[in-house]
Amino acid sequence: MPATTVTTFARIASDLPPRGPALRLDTAIVLGGSVAGMLAARVLADHADTVLIVERDGGPAASGTRAGVPHGNQVHVLLAAFTRQIERWFPGFTGRAVAGGAVRITAESSRSYANGVPKVSIGDRAVLSMTRPYLEQRIRAELAAVPNVRMVTGRVTGLEFDRSAVTAVRYEADGAGVRQPAGLVVDALGRGSRVTDWLTAAGWHRPPMLRGGDAVNYATAVFQRPPEQDSVRRAAALDPATGEGAIFQSVEGDRYLVMQGGIGDSRPGGTAEDMVSRLRHLLPEPFGRVAENELIGEVVTYRLVDSRRRDFWACTQFPARLIPVGDAVASLNPFYGQGLSSAALHASALSLYLRSAPDLDFPARDYLAMQKVVVDAAWAISTRSPETGDARRWIVRQIVRAAVVDCFVATAFADVTQMLKHPATLFTPAVVARALLARLRRLPAPVRPIAGRVEVLSS
Ligand SMILES: Cc1cc2nc3c(=O)[nH]c(=O)nc-3n(C[C@H](O)[C@H](O)[C@H](O)COP(=O)(O)OP(=O)(O)OC[C@H]3O[C@@H](n4cnc5c(N)ncnc54)[C@H](O)[C@@H]3O)c2cc1C
Repeated sequence: MPATTVTTFARIASDLPPRGPALRLDTAIVLGGSVAGMLAARVLADHADTVLIVERDGGPAASGTRAGVPHGNQVHVLLAAFTRQIERWFPGFTGRAVAGGAVRITAESSRSYANGVPKVSIGDRAVLSMTRPYLEQRIRAELAAVPNVRMVTGRVTGLEFDRSAVTAVRYEADGAGVRQPAGLVVDALGRGSRVTDWLTAAGWHRPPMLRGGDAVNYATAVFQRPPEQDSVRRAAALDPATGEGAIFQSVEGDRYLVMQGGIGDSRPGGTAEDMVSRLRHLLPEPFGRVAENELIGEVVTYRLVDSRRRDFWACTQFPARLIPVGDAVASLNPFYGQGLSSAALHASALSLYLRSAPDLDFPARDYLAMQKVVVDAAWAISTRSPETGDARRWIVRQIVRAAVVDCFVATAFADVTQMLKHPATLFTPAVVARALLARLRRLPAPVRPIAGRVEVLSS
């Protein structure tokens, strides 16, 4: 992997305030007002007189799951990259979110297990934990304080182009059609975005769509969290061989969100009985402790059939003034929790692009090239295909094993899985040497479930 890829990723993942001349725009329109759209809008607010977000689920921020994000009731883990970027764009966000009920997860309050074996703790970074609806509420509240950003409730129905660029957005609001000219358009319509259909209908190339990875199955439940039960705020248990696992995390409202995940035909935890039985009998003891509390409501399930990416960068013909972000570009295996961090890194790449004095009358190729670095990095992890070649794959296995016992390797590994650094940073002599040395160390004993192992209900 060339060093430039690593350094490009580092620039995008930076926590420094944006620098460079701010390109000026009249109106920028963001299609879709979920997390990727709102973060892009925040970046655009530094450049455009008016930033208009068109979101079909606009209006007052809902406290529950909404139609546009049907997976909003599933566990959403916020990686360190997201926590860093959200703080970068909304300074003080973490403190305000925690004051409102979000939970700060530190190394001391989190546990991680590989096949039940406790992983070494790396004592530095704290991340945020909250439900997805609450996260959206918080970002909407922050954005409401940015004077030149406005969200309208409307359904985007199409785009208009001239010979070289996107020129306007069409949407329906209050039963009427609206045509809004724009100097820049951001596609943040998510996995189901129809922008590629509108591109091809207007004679542009359709970007190649890559699909990969297996179907993943989620089952999420909410348990009450007694205030005194605070020492373990998050635990994750993973089977490194299959990539299947479970996680619980403390969230606002004195609750735990608990998720069990399966791959392909494996659908664990779909009923209350199955969920509780697995937590007690199959997973390390902290999971069983959570299951001693009252389960609130029903277990909710979700199935995502694959990971997919649209390679806009590969289009030989692409209109100027169009910027795709978030799941509209890459919708990833959620087990690795990269979706929201990717969206945040796309927003950061957008900022770098807009501060590089670009000529907006040409396609945003420099932006798409930066985005490709982020997508490639996430895709490698999401589809569990980080390396080609037997030797590299063997090294990856050693690093994954060493990350259980060796703090140095665990930190390097977490920097990559938390999207703070590019995956190629794992292949330095120092990390590989420590990983090989760690082969001499015995793994600790697995942490047992709270109850003896028994057959659980079939999935
Ligand atoms: C089960 C599951 C669990 C996940 N867990 C995690 C996790 O732990 N951590 C993590 O980081 N990510 C996770 N993800 C991924 C994360 O949810 C997505 O990456 C994220 O939602 C992408 O945000 P987005 O803004 O790009 O798209 P979306 O959130 O999909 O938003 C698209 C927006 O566009 C709007 N919209 C769509 N069509 C129109 C239209 N025609 N007009 C107007 N508005 C429209 C929708 O209402 C919606 O608001 C998970 C995903 C799933 C499925």
